[in-house]
Amino acid sequence: MKKSQVIKFAKKLNSTNLSALRSGNISIIAKERGVKGFYITPSGKKYSSLKTKDIVFVSLKGKFNKKKGKPSSEWRFHQDIYVNKKDAKAIVHAHSTCATAVSTHQKSIPAFHYMVAVAGGEDIKCAKYSTFGTRSLSKNILSALKNRSACLISNHGQIAFGENLEKAFELAQEIENICHQYINALRIGIPKMLSKKEMKIVLGKMKNYKRG
Ligand SMILES: [Zn+2]
Repeated sequence: MKKSQVIKFAKKLNSTNLSALRSGNISIIAKERGVKGFYITPSGKKYSSLKTKDIVFVSLKGKFNKKKGKPSSEWRFHQDIYVNKKDAKAIVHAHSTCATAVSTHQKSIPAFHYMVAVAGGEDIKCAKYSTFGTRSLSKNILSALKNRSACLISNHGQIAFGENLEKAFELAQEIENICHQYINALRIGIPKMLSKKEMKIVLGKMKNYKRG
């Protein structure tokens, strides 16, 4: 069941140190009474004590039943990603330590390691800063996600989507690892970058690998 999957991965956010306590949020595309939308973690509840009834349904038009609980205050960017990215079926947003640290520099992660291609391009973009929960932040995230399935969010954290929650979660963990490696690489100077040509080869190989 989709609601229990949201709970399972919300708890995993805590146990894998992607996000502590209430920070970060998880959603999965869903349908309720013929209405297209998504199930999302609620606002202000500890993930360790989440019950199925706490998971909130938000329609793709941004409607939800307030009596049934409040969705995460960051539901707008989930809505906008589902509306604009046809291959997004599940989303993981985290304030994970290393991704958040790198995001405070408001810069893309360059090709210091070939694995940056895991997000879909030759770098991992960082969405411009805007207040959490606003439509303007949603817009910034969508531009950073152009041809990408993950990005950093300035002074905030990271976001990853996929065809299911397992894949979105794994991608978020990968982004966190890359940020950890990037921080370490910077400690001993400026890393040598891979060329655009090499990154094209890597991207081609990754596409084939995914297909296979
Ligand atoms: Zn957040």
